[in-house]
Amino acid sequence: MERPAAPETNLTGPFRSAAPRGGARPPPFRKLIVVGGGSAGWMAALLLARTLVPKGVEIEVLESPTVGIIGVGEGSTPWLRGFFADLGIEESEWMPACNATYKCGIQFERWSTKPGFERYFHPFASMLDNLTMGMFLQHAHARLNGVDIDAHPDRFFIATRLAHGCKAPRPVHAFPFDIWYGYHFDAVLLGQFLHRKALERGVRYRQCHVADVNRAENGDIASVTTREGGTIAADFFVDCTGFAGLLIQKALGTPFLPYAKNLFNDAAVAMPTPIEGPIASQTVSRAMRHGWMWRIPLTSRYGNGYVYSSSFCSADEAERELRSELGLLDDPTPARHLKMRTGRVTEHWNRNCLAVGLSQGFIEPLEATALLFIQRTAAWFCEVLEEGDLGEASRLRFNERLNRQFEGTRDYIVTHYKTNSRKDTEYWRANAHNGELSDPLKELYGLWLSGRGIANEVRAQTLGVGYPALSWYSIFAGMGCFPEPERLRPPRAGEAYDLEEVGNMLDRAALNYPDQREALAAIAPARKEKSLQVYYW
Ligand SMILES: Cc1cc2nc3c(=O)[nH]c(=O)nc-3n(C[C@H](O)[C@H](O)[C@H](O)COP(=O)(O)OP(=O)(O)OC[C@H]3O[C@@H](n4cnc5c(N)ncnc54)[C@H](O)[C@@H]3O)c2cc1C
Repeated sequence: MERPAAPETNLTGPFRSAAPRGGARPPPFRKLIVVGGGSAGWMAALLLARTLVPKGVEIEVLESPTVGIIGVGEGSTPWLRGFFADLGIEESEWMPACNATYKCGIQFERWSTKPGFERYFHPFASMLDNLTMGMFLQHAHARLNGVDIDAHPDRFFIATRLAHGCKAPRPVHAFPFDIWYGYHFDAVLLGQFLHRKALERGVRYRQCHVADVNRAENGDIASVTTREGGTIAADFFVDCTGFAGLLIQKALGTPFLPYAKNLFNDAAVAMPTPIEGPIASQTVSRAMRHGWMWRIPLTSRYGNGYVYSSSFCSADEAERELRSELGLLDDPTPARHLKMRTGRVTEHWNRNCLAVGLSQGFIEPLEATALLFIQRTAAWFCEVLEEGDLGEASRLRFNERLNRQFEGTRDYIVTHYKTNSRKDTEYWRANAHNGELSDPLKELYGLWLSGRGIANEVRAQTLGVGYPALSWYSIFAGMGCFPEPERLRPPRAGEAYDLEEVGNMLDRAALNYPDQREALAAIAPARKEKSLQVYYW
C-alpha cells in the first residue's frame, strides 16, 4: 500500500508572522525575564529568543518548583502551524514527541435541539471552500428568507469530510488545495518539548519560586526576589504565571475585566480514556446539563473534560455526569478538578511587563483559542521590538489590538450559548436569555434574523477580528437559527444547488487524503508504545 509522504512545512502567508529583521537596530534592553514555565512561558520565550537572542539579549525563564502548570489545553487553531513554521520546527519532529494528531475543526453535539441541527461541524477553512462557500451562503440566505432548502454547514466543506472520515488534512499526492488544519497534543509533553527547544536556542532556565516583585522608583518592575534566596534584576519582565498573574495583576495592579456575565463557566473536571481504532481529526464538544464536554484524540489517549458553571452544578455532580458520559462511573481513574477565571487584563503590556497566557486573560476553552492568544501576544510584541518603538503610543496600540481580539473571540463563543435551544436545565435557559451582549453582537443578530447578509458586518466589526464569515455562518446555520419549518416554502427552480453533486465532489476530493493513523505513522516510524501513563497533570 502506498504510504503518505512525510509532510514538509508548506504554509501560506497568513499563518506566519514577520521574520525578524535582526541586524542594525540596537537591542531595546539587555536582559528579559520570563516568570512561568507553562505553555505560555515557553512559547513566549521561543518567539522572543528568535528576535532578541541574535541581538545579544539575555532571556531567562524562572519556574516555581512547587506550583505546577495547568496541564490542560490540548487543542489548537490552525495558527499553531505558523508558530512551528516561524521557528523552523517540522511536524515530524514535534508531533511524535507530543503524541499529537491533526484537527480539521470542532464537532458540536447536542447544543441545538432543532430537528436536523442536533450536531454540526465548525470547519477550519480550506482552499476548496472557494468552490463551496458561495453555495453555502446562498442556501443559508434562502432558508433564512423562507425557502425550504438544506443549509446545514456539514453539506458544504471538505474539512468536515476529512474529520468524520478519520483522515489527515495533508494530501497523499500533490493535490493543490491546502487545508488550514490545527492540532491536538499532550500539554505536558508539549511543554517539555518547547522547554528543550528554548534551551537549544539560547534561553536560560532557573527553577525558583518568585516570592516578591520589587518596584523601581518610577513604578517599573526592577527585580524579583526568590524563595530560594537572591534577587534577580532585569530590564523587561514577561508574566507567564498563569491565573496567579503575579507581576501584571498582583504587583502592577493592572485592572482585570471579568467576562463572567457573558460566559458563565468557571470550572472544569478532566480525565483521560484509552484510544483505539481510527482517530477522527476533530475535537468533539458535546453539550452537557450544565456546560459542555470536550473529547480530544491523541495518539496515546483521549483527553476528556467537562467545563461547567459552579453556580449551577457542584463539582461532584459534574464529575458524576462526566463519568456517566464516558461509561466510567465505577472506574478508579482519578478525575482532576480545575477552577478558571474568564476575562482579561485591561493592559497586556503595562510598564516594563508583558502578560502572556492565562495571566493576561482567558475566554474559555470552547474554541481552543488560548494558545493562539499566547502566540499573537508574543509575536506582536516581537513586531514592536522590531519596529524599535516602545513608546506610549505604541503600547496603547498594542493593547488595543489585543483587546479587540479578545472581545471578538469572546463574542463568537458567547454565540454558542446564546443560540442554544436546549430547555432541560436552568443553565441553558439562563444562557439563552442572557442579555449581556456586546453592541456589535446585537447588530449581527439583528441582521441575521432580518435575513440580510452578515459577511460585510463581520468584516467591518471586531467580530471579524476574532472569527471570519465562514465561522459566523457555520454557527448560525449549524445551530438551526432559521424560520420554523412550517413557515418555509418549497424552493423554486434555480434556487438550490444540487447537493448530491456537491457531496460527490467533496467525496472525490477526500480520496486524496490519507487515513490519520497512517499519516501519523509515516511521520513517526519509530513511535513508542502508546501508553496512558503520561497524563496531563
Ligand atoms: C479547562 C481548560 C481547558 C483548556 N483547553 C485549552 C485548549 O483546548 N486549547 C488552548 O489553546 N488552551 C486551552 N486552555 C488554556 C491553556 O491551558 C493555557 O492557556 C496554557 O496552558 C497556558 O497556560 P500558562 O502557561 O499561562 O499557565 P500555567 O500552565 O498555569 O503555567 C504557570 C507557570 O507559572 C509558574 N509560576 C506560578 N507562580 C510562580 C511563582 N511564584 N514563581 C515562579 N513561577 C511561578 C508555574 O510554575 C508554571 O510554570 C484550557 C484551559 C483550561 C482551564
